[in-house]
Amino acid sequence: MGKHDGRSGRRWRRAVAQLKSESLPICWICGYDIDMTLPHLHPRAWTAEHIQPLSAGGDPYDPDNLRPAHRGCNSRKGNGPPPIPPRGSHRW
Ligand SMILES: [Zn+2]
Repeated sequence: MGKHDGRSGRRWRRAVAQLKSESLPICWICGYDIDMTLPHLHPRAWTAEHIQPLSAGGDPYDPDNLRPAHRGCNSRKGNGPPPIPPRGSHRW
């Protein structure tokens, strides 16, 4: 049936586009702003992160299960992010 990793295809891109347009560009892991103009492979670039991992039954396409995160924070999450308080100008 072709390769499908859950993060490709129209449905995923749609979920990401929705998150981008409806969420503030704030990293939910460290609380700092995300510069949307950075190239997407940059460590501070915008990525869509699953709050509940797919391995734990999270829905990959549910907007409620997606939050913006820095690429670096996203991949570092397993080790625990540094305790940086949010700036306070935005709240969830
Ligand atoms: Zn971050």
